[in-house]
Amino acid sequence: MKDQGTINRFGHYTQDLVPDDVPLAERPGHKLRTSTVIVDRAKLTTHPAENESFQNGDAPSGTQVNSVVDGGGATDIPNLFSGPSFRNPRERFRFDGHKMVYHLDRVLAWQRGERFAPIHIDMGLTKFCNTACIYCYAVVQNMTKGTMIQREALLRYIEDCGRLGVRSIGFIGDGEPTLNPALYDATVLAKKVGVDTGMGTNGLLLDMDRAEDLLSSMSFMRINLSAGTPEGFQKIHQSSGRNFHLLKDKIRELVRLKKRLNLKCTIGLQMVLIPECFDQIIPEAELGLELGVDYFVIKQCADSEYKELGIDYSAYVSAEEPLRQVEKLSTPEYVVQVKWNKIGAAGNTSIYSSGIRKYDICYGTPFLSQISGNGKVYPCGPFYNKERFLIGNIHNESFYDIVMGDRYWEVHADIARVVDVHKDCAIGCRQDYINKFLWDLQNPPDHINFI
Ligand code: SF4
Repeated sequence: MKDQGTINRFGHYTQDLVPDDVPLAERPGHKLRTSTVIVDRAKLTTHPAENESFQNGDAPSGTQVNSVVDGGGATDIPNLFSGPSFRNPRERFRFDGHKMVYHLDRVLAWQRGERFAPIHIDMGLTKFCNTACIYCYAVVQNMTKGTMIQREALLRYIEDCGRLGVRSIGFIGDGEPTLNPALYDATVLAKKVGVDTGMGTNGLLLDMDRAEDLLSSMSFMRINLSAGTPEGFQKIHQSSGRNFHLLKDKIRELVRLKKRLNLKCTIGLQMVLIPECFDQIIPEAELGLELGVDYFVIKQCADSEYKELGIDYSAYVSAEEPLRQVEKLSTPEYVVQVKWNKIGAAGNTSIYSSGIRKYDICYGTPFLSQISGNGKVYPCGPFYNKERFLIGNIHNESFYDIVMGDRYWEVHADIARVVDVHKDCAIGCRQDYINKFLWDLQNPPDHINFI
């Protein structure tokens, strides 16, 4: 390999990395070339791969090579045509984005103006909780102790979701789902009617006698935990250090059960990032590794449109170092991922960081609807209790009829018509990612055929 470099015809030093043993063109010379060393590619078509230059490369024996330009390592030699080398690790989860492209049938139905079932529904099963996490959004959602969706209504709703073709339900809502005893049967039924389920829970009241039902029916079980030490747990979740150890034991048992039964359900930890838990980022990442969970995801804290939680998003910038550090713990078995698209918004354009969105109209609610833990159906969680947008209640009506009814579509249309997403909405709401996608779809640039 020449490494001395040469002086080109402009008098500049150039370094070529052409192997010594390749044929060179006798009269190299496109007029604009800066180097005077040009490989004779015509002759290289018979150049054998066993050539010394490729000894460390991946070329199968006998491969004919028609170009030899070594960018510094044998694996960088182009034009071997030996097949894809798969250097991009597979994205196991997509925490920081959306999956609308996998549901284009619903997108097309929407574009045709048809009525269609939501792809996904996030729902509470209760409107109360056994912890009092200091970042909790539910404090602005009228929590009421003892209120929950009644068993009969819940099971009928699940049947309706199957009939409608709802593809997934997240028991992720205003209240803690494990406080509703119907959670377990609803999950088993959802699997039976072909609806995927997942759950976000603080995990403390999980009935371990029914853990197998959940793990064998759910796609994911996510533990909302924003601490990695008993002290941090007390501070952030306002629950005792003893409960921290109880939770660890439960997670350990869930992981053991999942592995023993070879179940697909993923078990993960989610941290809602607020300045008070910056010191917990590394301990929790290490805890996740120790417990053997599938992932640890760190998300931004959503504040209300009135900024009632008072989250200082500019403070996120100072958490960048530990966040980058914990991402390095990622392995194929344990994914550590930060939702940079939202956490990084503070360092984004000054417009976006102050809440201005990258779209002007909310189109996302028919694709991803939300139901409160009292059974009321709304287009989105931040608008719970806003009567203007109340669609119906699964205690009083069949969900099938609700989705196929006029009121449902009038409310979604009302959202698109009257909401100013830049000022009426909670920061970083659930539909944010899909709204960007739909906005782009509705607002094509010129010359779309030039893809
Ligand atoms: S953009 Fe606004 S209206 Fe649309 S889902 Fe988010 S909070 Fe609700």
